[in-house]
Amino acid sequence: MGNPAEPELRLMTIHAHPDDEASKGAATVASCHGEGVHCVLVCCTGGEVGDILNPVMDTPEVREDLVGVRAAELEKSAEIIGYDEVVMLGYRDSGMPDSEENNHPDAFANASPDEAINRLVEVIRRVRPHVIVTYPDDRRGYNHPDHLQVHDISVPAFEVAGDPECCIGTGEPWHPLKLYFTTWSRARIEGLHKKHLELGIESPYSEWWFKRPSQDHLITTQVPVGDYWDVRRDALLAHATQVDPESPFWFGLPDEVARTVHPYDDYVLAQSLVGGPVDGKVEDDLFAGIRTMSADEINAVAHRGVGGRPPDGEALMDKTR
Ligand SMILES: [Zn+2]
Repeated sequence: MGNPAEPELRLMTIHAHPDDEASKGAATVASCHGEGVHCVLVCCTGGEVGDILNPVMDTPEVREDLVGVRAAELEKSAEIIGYDEVVMLGYRDSGMPDSEENNHPDAFANASPDEAINRLVEVIRRVRPHVIVTYPDDRRGYNHPDHLQVHDISVPAFEVAGDPECCIGTGEPWHPLKLYFTTWSRARIEGLHKKHLELGIESPYSEWWFKRPSQDHLITTQVPVGDYWDVRRDALLAHATQVDPESPFWFGLPDEVARTVHPYDDYVLAQSLVGGPVDGKVEDDLFAGIRTMSADEINAVAHRGVGGRPPDGEALMDKTR
């Protein structure tokens, strides 16, 4: 791209189902795409067993071809957000916890970890992302089996993608420089809840939301996304089977209010080969520390982290446990 002295930056996000890319970090990706970052979405399942959550879309035709409909919704959403590429990892939706669908042999949750990590490493080695965004280990929060599996394969894939002795035959080793976890901060939920009450609108945030353990002390990064509120809303609406435009959860506040309440996407830096914010400081950029590096410096780091977890990463990783 243009000036060879300025290397192209690449971001990869890993999500469980079509619609997760819209509800988690869509505005961040839109803002990265807007500044020329190459953005790739890895979607692990086709959302085969999702319920139809928008009554208008609950028709026999849609039910009959839910996979096709959801694929088209994903394509539209990804285009709105600004993803340059969507990679389907090829697994089947495992369904909600303790449902019959959990037992399907092709369910993502039943995938052999080695095989799934291999598939993901192959994508990482081809795309060579500098930054990967995935889910935290959220066993006490949202325990959908596919979301847990996303975490469980992303972390080892990040760690071994640069190791030539691992995942042989899946391409040239490449160690991504940073790994982030998405998070729905307590501050955001509290802010939205209070704003509903203030405006006399019934809040969709039940007590359950406040019983979830707060992870806010782990947040290292807040990306300002106020200008991209509409992108997130439109991407959510593109998932017409999953998102009811009348939903008080997604759209209870007027747009002009909602966009101002917590105009950040919050992240936890889980591993880094290039350091991270120190002394409790919060950074505002997923590519902090990478933007100032030359292509040669980046290559040297991406090929260095061979055979195990880098020291910086270790410290950061422990912090998130
Ligand atoms: Zn999901």
